[in-house]
Amino acid sequence: MAKKLVYMDNNATTPVDPEVAKTTMESLEFYGNPSSMHTMGREAHDRIEKARFLTASLVHARPHEMIFTGCGSESNNAVINLLFSEELQKSRRRKFISSVIEHPSIHELDSMLKRRGIDVVRVPVDKEGLVDMEAYAQALDDSTALVSIMTANNEIGTIQDIESLTSLAHDHGALMHTDAVQAAGKIEIDVRKTKVDYMSLSGHKLYAPKGIGALYIRSGAPFSPFLLGGHQESGRRAGTYNTTGIISMGAAAEIALKHLDEEIKRIGGLRDALEEGIRERISDIRVNGHPEHRVPGTANISFLGAEGESILLYLDMEGVQVSTGSACATGSLEPSYVLMETGIGAELSHGSIRFSLGRFTTAEEVDYVLDVLPPIIERLRRMSTL
Ligand code: PLP
Repeated sequence: MAKKLVYMDNNATTPVDPEVAKTTMESLEFYGNPSSMHTMGREAHDRIEKARFLTASLVHARPHEMIFTGCGSESNNAVINLLFSEELQKSRRRKFISSVIEHPSIHELDSMLKRRGIDVVRVPVDKEGLVDMEAYAQALDDSTALVSIMTANNEIGTIQDIESLTSLAHDHGALMHTDAVQAAGKIEIDVRKTKVDYMSLSGHKLYAPKGIGALYIRSGAPFSPFLLGGHQESGRRAGTYNTTGIISMGAAAEIALKHLDEEIKRIGGLRDALEEGIRERISDIRVNGHPEHRVPGTANISFLGAEGESILLYLDMEGVQVSTGSACATGSLEPSYVLMETGIGAELSHGSIRFSLGRFTTAEEVDYVLDVLPPIIERLRRMSTL
């Protein structure tokens, strides 16, 4: 097969859907400040409200419960910031619970929280990445202010039982946040069913451009603005509205909702074909994450005796874009903390590759990867035994 460019890194970011891109370009015409009272301002405002409705609909929220942010990381930070709100400070609740596999935009706030007197607990996960319910139940008590557990993990795709986790948190009077950045548009999400208080979303994981995120805030849930200095978002986030980003995100949410069922089947089918093909062709591999409770596009596979970074670079030479569990983004070769927390050990963690398939992945591309991957692994294994 001739060399081609195959993008299998959709969990890192998605391409912009051409339909979304069309809307993005059109949105540039609505340059009036959405807060202005004149006709052009009102036109931009109306488009934003339509996008809010569409984005809220993706997770069965009501439009006024959805605010737009700059990215998923901002949404996560804004929720954690709540721990210092007057309301939570008054409640004397000082505990924050998350899991050991949360995104850095949750994890990296831990030391700041501890410095400011918050009792931080990270609950462990099992081998497949599911939160240990016993440890979670033990950690929860009446001093718990906030719980934050991701709906789906970015590296291994494991989907948590958010409904049960929320119910337990609420039993103790704690508020519940979920980072659904890797889940929205990939699986059915219903905030009415899970009853979460807050949920983070990100446009660039949903075939919208980068630089736009959203935060669901349940009607009646406490919130204190993270960004101050303007009345936008009903006083919940200051700053002139990112009209283009917001309209694009609305379009992306509409498309995702419309095609959700068919994409779950199609992308899930391709992912399964990729995993089966790899199993048939390559020995000593391990498929990471939960076998069933996993987002459709994610295949995280460890290749014993081969280095993830090297596999990635060799695949790149063949035109295949993937990710490795190692923290290559920071230039370090530390094994992935997510995989390490599942207890599979350093060797398997080092040899892991994340293939993340998406809307534009084709069966032909899966076949191409199945063609080029086995000789790469064979070569690397031979080199490592030498
Ligand atoms: N949460 C998860 C689970 C993610 O995978 C990411 C991005 O990789 C984020 C949050 C951050 O989103 P953003 O890139 O929009 O800040």
